[in-house]
Amino acid sequence: MIILGLESSADKLGVGIIDSNGQILANLRKTYKPPQGSGVLPREAAEHHAKNIPHLIRDAFEKANLIPEEIDLIAFTRGCGMGPCLRVAAVAARTLSKMINKPLIGVNHQIGHVEISRLFTGLEDPIVLYVSGGNTQIIGFMEKRYRVLGETLDIPVGNCLDVFGREAGLSNKEMPMGRVIELLAEQTDEYIELPYVVKGMDLSFSGILTAAKRLLKKGIPIPVLANSLQETVFAMLTEVTERALSHTKKEEVTITGGVAANKRLKEMLRLMAEEHGAIFKGIPTSISIDNGVMIAWAGYLMWSTGYKPNKRDILVDQHFRIEEVEVTWR
Ligand code: AMP
Ligand code: MG
Repeated sequence: MIILGLESSADKLGVGIIDSNGQILANLRKTYKPPQGSGVLPREAAEHHAKNIPHLIRDAFEKANLIPEEIDLIAFTRGCGMGPCLRVAAVAARTLSKMINKPLIGVNHQIGHVEISRLFTGLEDPIVLYVSGGNTQIIGFMEKRYRVLGETLDIPVGNCLDVFGREAGLSNKEMPMGRVIELLAEQTDEYIELPYVVKGMDLSFSGILTAAKRLLKKGIPIPVLANSLQETVFAMLTEVTERALSHTKKEEVTITGGVAANKRLKEMLRLMAEEHGAIFKGIPTSISIDNGVMIAWAGYLMWSTGYKPNKRDILVDQHFRIEEVEVTWR
């Protein structure tokens, strides 16, 4: 079976093709760049995706050496995400499905992240730390559903890094803001205390951001702040992931989302896992940042275990939560 996956929930447009053995045939992406100094503008991002989706789909077929009729299933991200952005992939998927007369399946974005991580790490039942520009969640499988065991109470951790970077006047066309901050943080071991906010299993990043911005205005060197910010927010994420691991008595940990590219965060998680006799494994950035392949793979898992979409399933849902989906494939 060959599956096409379309993802457009935020600033990235992804088109992926995977087969039912888990072999990636194409994984193409195009990223919307907001105006200098601004965050993602949903309508502009949606326009970017709408403009690029026809040729990105064509390029993916070319890369996979396939014609559209050879696809067996079309999967798209139903949510969560930004409404105008989500609608681009949904409309394209619906249109293509009608054109080639192939089934359509709407997929939860988080399930895409979790399942592609399981496929590529080979981990059976991991605690998944999902950290991106739009999400911060600690996810685990329990009683036929993925459960959010902990999450941010305000802004996502990637957003915290991005806003701090913009305030500090950092920007780089070649790399994401989190990577710019990571490189600056590597320049120093100096650390300034910032608020550390873990409430039970949940986290809060907005107070830390405010404090870091205040210290920036006071003239604290940017690398020192970058290092302090990373050490603080990553320690918080590691603490909650650790608690999820001991509560659930699971023995595996993985990480996904754009922030999963960060070496320091992965090092902290690896050390924590080792202390618990657990295994930590990361995945390549090409499949941990938003991508179409993860949607295709999750769509395949749903489809192949008897999931029959109803009318509601082909509509986008900005607030679609991972717990809403009954996991039929585990
Ligand atoms: P996503 O929302 O999954 O597309 O991921 C984008 C987020 O990942 C943005 O907040 C980026 O700044 C962040 N990011 C990308 N690379 C890194 C890195 N090396 N370290 C920390 N954050 C990163
Ligand atoms: Mg994502």
